[in-house]
Amino acid sequence: MGGQAAAFVAAVKDFHHRVHRAHRGALYSPLFSVSSAPSVVNLVLKLRLARAAAKIPNSSRNGPSIRSGRKRSISLVPISTETGFGSPEGRLRVAKYDVAIIGSGPGGYVAAIRAGELGLKTVVVEKDPFLGGTCLHVGCIPTKVLLHHAEVYDHFKNGAELGFEVSGLKINWGNVLARKDKIVKKHAKGIEFLFKKNKVEWVQGWGRYEGPGRVSVEKDGKKTQIEASNILLVSGSEARALPGIEPDHKTILTNRSILELPEIPKTLIVVGAGAVGVEFASIYNSFGTQVTILEALPRVVPVEDEEISAELDKTFRKKNIGIFTQAMVESVKKDAKSVTVTFKDKDGKSQTLQAEKLLLAVGRKPMTDNCGLEKSKAKVERGAVHVGPYMETAEKGLYAIGDIVFGLPLLAHAAMMEGIAAVTHIAGKTAPAIVKERIPNATYCEPQIGSIGLTEKQARDAGYAVKTGKFPFVGNSKATILGNHGGFIKVVSDEKYGEVLGIHIIGPLATEILAEAAAVLHLEGTIDDMMSMMHAHPTVWEGMGDAFASVRGLQINV
Ligand SMILES: Cc1cc2nc3c(=O)[nH]c(=O)nc-3n(C[C@H](O)[C@H](O)[C@H](O)COP(=O)(O)OP(=O)(O)OC[C@H]3O[C@@H](n4cnc5c(N)ncnc54)[C@H](O)[C@@H]3O)c2cc1C
Repeated sequence: MGGQAAAFVAAVKDFHHRVHRAHRGALYSPLFSVSSAPSVVNLVLKLRLARAAAKIPNSSRNGPSIRSGRKRSISLVPISTETGFGSPEGRLRVAKYDVAIIGSGPGGYVAAIRAGELGLKTVVVEKDPFLGGTCLHVGCIPTKVLLHHAEVYDHFKNGAELGFEVSGLKINWGNVLARKDKIVKKHAKGIEFLFKKNKVEWVQGWGRYEGPGRVSVEKDGKKTQIEASNILLVSGSEARALPGIEPDHKTILTNRSILELPEIPKTLIVVGAGAVGVEFASIYNSFGTQVTILEALPRVVPVEDEEISAELDKTFRKKNIGIFTQAMVESVKKDAKSVTVTFKDKDGKSQTLQAEKLLLAVGRKPMTDNCGLEKSKAKVERGAVHVGPYMETAEKGLYAIGDIVFGLPLLAHAAMMEGIAAVTHIAGKTAPAIVKERIPNATYCEPQIGSIGLTEKQARDAGYAVKTGKFPFVGNSKATILGNHGGFIKVVSDEKYGEVLGIHIIGPLATEILAEAAAVLHLEGTIDDMMSMMHAHPTVWEGMGDAFASVRGLQINV
């Protein structure tokens, strides 16, 4: 082989290696990669899809038409007391639904809407009288409303810096909570509208898997059943408690009860410095509460890159938020007005703190009890469900989605994409792969954090020759205009091929400019690809261009 040909072959091999290393190595978890082969079971559904595509009415469809404008109700078969199910033995069992979904949180409602769009006859079972789950009612949305209000309040407080004289500034807490509730209600109604639009039916009651193709629905002591070819369990999670420390929802709070406080507490102890803990710490700090965080691990936001944790720690302390890491809570005592926490600090000394309220933000536990999983072959570990490709459990036709899935992050957008992957597979179409390392993380405290991919340590541990770059927002003119130029963007890349392995942002609009980071990782971009991409000026976003260039020492603005 001539020198040129050999060089060409080497270059092709190199390229091949670069593009496919992600598929072999740490970037892809084989457990969650999804192929496109449709299952035999789903061939039946193809007929339905073809019919839907040809707009042939499906005579077996239950419920009144959407066009009629009448309220949609689903026909449920009362359970026979003898057999436990309505269908008499020996009857040819025809599945009434293609998909039954237990739970209407982001995993459930997104799966349902996509299933409807794909022409699958779909029903959702929800225990609550409203749709939207944790995320909409007591998670993502209400916390972001409060964070937005806290940010606006911060702007007023710093009005003088912008040339405004602000006097008589007061928080009307009742109005703040009312706006939060209005937004939540509006979006819950929005999901109802989208269900109607996509011919998704829903029923209120406790859903339980009863065996292949069967879901029971229990409400007010009455049990009915639904038959469906495929069942998605999307029952979500709830706040964990610490042993011996039960929330009373007046003094010892969870993410639910802290959203309903009648007034802003003067003092607050937050146990746990994960995303939920630091968001509430940030909200109440802005509203004037003296906040102290107790975290058992050595750093705040422990899943983030170490430099991100250090920056948040520094900024929070500057804002007068107290932080104790490696703090082990030993006891919590409460009286009518306050709560007293005793903990061992990192030097092993016993310390005591007192506050009006305490928030338990020590993680979430999957809600899979009493959902009928024991009637399936699904593998359950500490309440979480193992899944294979397309989110299917070891029980054929039973899928698990969202916060109940073992080994995937508890995030709304992860739940949404998992739901889409499951129903797309059920419809016999090419389903998106769920790649754990490409799930973006967004934490909306002030300063915001946005991250995706491998941290520097994870990349080194995975054996990469790591090259990092860092751009501080202090060099970004738009950040200065916003009066918010703390923090940085850190890029973790593979030295040899310039492949972008991870991006970690702390600072202004971090959760928004994360969009570019997610796209780069999704499209397996390199530092060179990104350095040749134009970023609009002046934007906070253009900091990304400087951050990529800083890996090569070619940043412009610092
Ligand atoms: C304070 C807080 C803030 C958060 N902020 C964010 C954020 O900003 N971004 C983000 O991505 N994630 C955030 N999360 C996480 C996010 O809320 C969850 O990852 C997401 O809600 C999971 O969706 P899910 O569909 O799996 O479950 P859920 O949203 O928990 O929904 C489950 C649904 O199932 C219903 N259900 C349960 N069991 C049954 C049953 N047997 N029968 C019928 N219905 C049943 C429940 O009533 C509920 O409606 C936050 C969480 C918290 C607590």
